[in-house]
Amino acid sequence: MPAPDARPKRSRWKSKASLVARRWRDALRRVPILCRGGRAGRTSLVFVELRPRVAPGSLGARVKRNAIPNHDDMQKPTYKAKAYSAASATSKLASTKINRREPTDRDVQMEILFCGICHSDFHAVRNEWSEFMATTYPIVPGHEIVGRVTKVGSAVTRYKPGDIVGVGCMVHSDGTCHQCKDGFEQFCPNMILTYNAPDKHLGGVTYGGYSDSIVVDEHFVLRLPQNLNLASAAPLLCAGVTTYAPMRRYGVTKGQKVGVVGLGGLGHMAVKFGRAFGAHVVVFTTSPNKKEDALRLGADEVVISRNADEMKKHEGSLDFILDAVSADHDINAYLRLLGRDGNLTLVGAPPKPLAVAAFNLILRHRVLTGSAIGGIPVTQEMLDFCGKNNITADVEVIPIQKVNEAYDRLVKSDVKYRFSIDMASLKSE
Ligand code: NAP
Ligand code: ZN
Repeated sequence: MPAPDARPKRSRWKSKASLVARRWRDALRRVPILCRGGRAGRTSLVFVELRPRVAPGSLGARVKRNAIPNHDDMQKPTYKAKAYSAASATSKLASTKINRREPTDRDVQMEILFCGICHSDFHAVRNEWSEFMATTYPIVPGHEIVGRVTKVGSAVTRYKPGDIVGVGCMVHSDGTCHQCKDGFEQFCPNMILTYNAPDKHLGGVTYGGYSDSIVVDEHFVLRLPQNLNLASAAPLLCAGVTTYAPMRRYGVTKGQKVGVVGLGGLGHMAVKFGRAFGAHVVVFTTSPNKKEDALRLGADEVVISRNADEMKKHEGSLDFILDAVSADHDINAYLRLLGRDGNLTLVGAPPKPLAVAAFNLILRHRVLTGSAIGGIPVTQEMLDFCGKNNITADVEVIPIQKVNEAYDRLVKSDVKYRFSIDMASLKSE
């Protein structure tokens, strides 16, 4: 292959050919459509221009930086907010300033008080999900947000300045599709994630909760029960709903034996919910030092998953397993633990595919499924349930300046059991 600088100079013929090619390309972007109209009802041919489209926020959507006009072009009123961002997949998070939009009619602006650190933040910052959701840099992660309302738009009816509220993984959806109507906004084709998704207001991508303020459409703002500690309630906005929703959907209840795999942020919430729903909860952990904590959190039994004999004792006996592991692991070992029609729900999202032995599903009619966060109705239901039952996450509160250290500990499974960033620490930046 010739070296790039050995490329021949463009001949006149070549530039003519490329002109023709460009015309064809332009013509192909314009689709002929037959229209019937006018008083005479005559049929005529019109050309409609097709523009490249990114399905905003959908899984697998790649953000084309230039497909969206940037905020300078759009001249929307903005203000500066403090934040922490990563500039590349290998960079540490560092202090920065970002633009936030001034609240529009339907918006709620809040001062962020606490933001949990989800393992998804880590996957996204390191671009570990590049095949499904490539990361656009700089990225400001954070989707477990608790804040105090500072301003509301004229059409906002449910919130007022001073209210304590929450924001989870989504900030927008179309509100008209059947997914939205059914309360599954996370599957709306026009859903916008809280970070790393096309920002329809300012262009570029959305910026998450590692920041001192955020502006969000009222529909995606949740009411926080007043009795809950704010730092410990923040993780409910992702870890809480991601575990509560499938356990409710698949009917986890008294008399059932329920397994929780991976005692991290999600896993420890699943233990608390399993206990609250009256199930017999078995924790499967790779960390022997978490055994006592697991029992304190509400588990009835703890199994060290690397011990084959301990695992064998539970074969064929579980009704439901929630797998919240963030890294590659053998799910066959857990499928074998399910009884007839037992359900293993994956919520953990390891970057690489997991292998499944067909016979582990064929025998006993076992079901392997997955679950994505939760829609707005089930998120509010979960928050209210937590308020009534006094359920929050076990958190280690950190200043934002310790976020990189926290990430290092997250990958070593050394979190008890969620980091919650105290955003007051951003004031000194
Ligand atoms: P986390 O706090 O880091 O917990 C993950 C746990 O997985 C660890 O504490 C550890 O538990 C276990 N683990 C880690 N590496 C392992 C390995 N190599 N083999 C076996 N077990 C291992 O993470 P998280 O925030 O709970 O998130 C868990 C996963 O859920 C992540 O992949 C995240 O992206 C995903 N997630 C999905 C959704 C969704 O909508 N489906 C929402 C939020 C998060 P032990 O020490 O007990 O073994
Ligand atoms: Zn999350």
